[in-house]
Amino acid sequence: FADRDGLIWLDGRLVPWRSARLHVLSHGLHYGGAVFEGERAYGGTVFRLRAHTERLRASAAAMGMTLPFSDAEIDAATVEVLAANGIGDGYVRPVVWRGSGQISVSGAGNTVHAAIAPWEWPAVFDGDAKRRGIALTVASWRRPHPSAFPVTAKSSALYSAGTLARGEAEARGCDDALLLDWRGDVADATGANVFLRFGDELHTPEPGTMLAGITRAAVIELAAREGIAVVERRIAPDEIAFADEAFLTGTAYEVQPVRSIDGTAFAVGETTALLMDRYADLVRPKTPAPAVPRPAGPPT
Ligand code: PMP
Repeated sequence: FADRDGLIWLDGRLVPWRSARLHVLSHGLHYGGAVFEGERAYGGTVFRLRAHTERLRASAAAMGMTLPFSDAEIDAATVEVLAANGIGDGYVRPVVWRGSGQISVSGAGNTVHAAIAPWEWPAVFDGDAKRRGIALTVASWRRPHPSAFPVTAKSSALYSAGTLARGEAEARGCDDALLLDWRGDVADATGANVFLRFGDELHTPEPGTMLAGITRAAVIELAAREGIAVVERRIAPDEIAFADEAFLTGTAYEVQPVRSIDGTAFAVGETTALLMDRYADLVRPKTPAPAVPRPAGPPT
């Protein structure tokens, strides 16, 4: 992934993809001193860019880091790097990390860096998975207690649990894992929030123990517009067997139907299909963005 063409925004300037490197003694690598975002551009416009930029800053702050760029600078850099790569529809990955100024666990002597990389990425799960839904399993790994870690920050350090859970899910022949919180209630998947339909209502875990996503908030708004009640509450894993539909929401996953959670099978129901459609309408800009100018290259 590092060996390809393209440009990455790094600490205020565009650099060739292959040259966007950092030192092996970076704090971000050794102690997880890093936070990131996952964004999606549709027709050249990032869906809810400012909300992502604000969350990036809040995640950095939760990890004791001050982002060395303003929200306006990060937003402008995002627009710039998308245009420089000629990307209309794609995924955008901003990352902020403590550098290699010193090797102590204390982050005080490390400069904070930022990079933004965009790439074309049509869907996490292919068309068949979108139609039929994906298979989930409840992981043996849990989200940490909120007193053990700032669990609502999008911190790289937290994703080690996601990597373990995802590996376990793949070993069980599943597509993704659902993690429970410290109490044993349903939290989220490795990169998405979860909704269950019970009768006329959608139920989703209440915020506080996991990342309550920007897509989750958008889907709650869309459901309200459709007159579908959404209940945010603690959900015990035993309740999954009584749900009528299940789906995940996330920037990368969008609205993703779930066909099974361990032994419980779900059909892709009307509510899931409706919200998939409404979300697709919401994220697409109403007027297409003007053609993205290609970066000026060397004269040919
Ligand atoms: N939970 C986790 C662990 C995630 O990584 C994500 C993806 N950022 C989400 C939930 C969904 O968040 P969003 O809708 O903001 O992408």
